[in-house]
Amino acid sequence: MPEPFEETLRQRLEAVRAQGLWRSLRPVDHRSASTLETGGHRLVSFAGNDYLGLSQHPAVMEAAVRAVHDWGAGSAASRLICGSLAVHHRLEETLAGFLGTEAALGFTTGHAAATGTIPALVGPGDVVIVDRLVHACCVDAARLSGAKLRVFRHNDLDDLERILGWASRLPRNASGGPRVLVVTEGVFSMDGDSAPLAGLVELKERHGAWLMLDEAHSTGVLGPEGRGLAAQLGLGGRIEVRMGTLGKALGASGGFIAGSRALIDLLVNRARSFIFSTAPVPAAAAAALAALELMTTRDGEEARARLRSASATGAGVVARTFPGPSDSVPSEGSVGHILPVIVGDETAAVALADRLRAAGAWVPAIRHPTVARGSARLRLTFSAAHTEADLDLLEQALIRACLQTPAHRSGDAA
Ligand SMILES: *Cc1c(COP(=O)(O)O)cnc(C)c1O
Repeated sequence: MPEPFEETLRQRLEAVRAQGLWRSLRPVDHRSASTLETGGHRLVSFAGNDYLGLSQHPAVMEAAVRAVHDWGAGSAASRLICGSLAVHHRLEETLAGFLGTEAALGFTTGHAAATGTIPALVGPGDVVIVDRLVHACCVDAARLSGAKLRVFRHNDLDDLERILGWASRLPRNASGGPRVLVVTEGVFSMDGDSAPLAGLVELKERHGAWLMLDEAHSTGVLGPEGRGLAAQLGLGGRIEVRMGTLGKALGASGGFIAGSRALIDLLVNRARSFIFSTAPVPAAAAAALAALELMTTRDGEEARARLRSASATGAGVVARTFPGPSDSVPSEGSVGHILPVIVGDETAAVALADRLRAAGAWVPAIRHPTVARGSARLRLTFSAAHTEADLDLLEQALIRACLQTPAHRSGDAA
């Protein structure tokens, strides 16, 4: 007889707690683009991905409200079943124009974009090769596809080439393949560095592989008018699958894939998370559309300038309060809006985050399984909405927290 349900769960939760990996939800009563209020305390947040503060921008909020009045609160069904609302088409046309692709397709989340797309492109007998640090949704999607999953060392082109060489010696399958899909990120979500995209593109072309680039943390932030890393490097036209989210710098909600017309048509016919899911709410699409329209205006330019400035100031604060060597060399053209401070031990990272919170700064401790065991860290993110006073508060909070816990920057784990 297996153990009863509740008992089994209780034991598993005990194990989570014992490893310092316990997570729980903290209700937030109010938030602005840079602050939140929880349990009666107002905290300055260095945790969100609302890099440009657009979730609180009047034009973005107004667009969401108007869409509710125009279309209602929900979308009623999958777009293939109940008709595909014009607001979704306008968003997709604008996205394609923004990224310079033939077409784009919206999903309810970035996560759904990944899990719909990878299994639509590859299957058993094919190969997916991911950077070790890609987001969980791309790993899940690769597993779901049934393709062979291989992992290359983070940003290591030699290791990728070795695996591409192995893939090229595999026996041919029914599709004349195997098809080989390489997956990486524009700006890595937990480390803040960028993929060596020019080298990756050259390598995948030489091996006849396809490339999927997840720009969740670079859309809106990097490149001319926030068009992302691929646009910054002029490589957009050589990347088969460009993915992003509408929920981070664009301040709304949803995910997207951009690429050729054939890619988008295939996804409409084969991406299960698109076909078998209710369309994104009209308000989310309208908000994302308004945010995209802001990208090419003075407002957008100024928001990106404020983000760069807050990130530079924040990096200085962390360098002063965590003296010691750092192996995190900012990538060329990077903004530094994601700044990891590696603590190492899970429990120490949580203790440090608790002390920062007591001092008024919300900085999350990131632990396994989001990052590898023993590489627990504080993950600071900066926003265009951060003021000088917010960054002063961060400095005071870090000084107070670190007086009690020794901690070191990247590469110098405690
Ligand atoms: C957040 C994130 C996603 C998922 O996007 P959502 O819209 O939040 O589902 C995908 N990839 C990366 C790298 C992310 O950080």
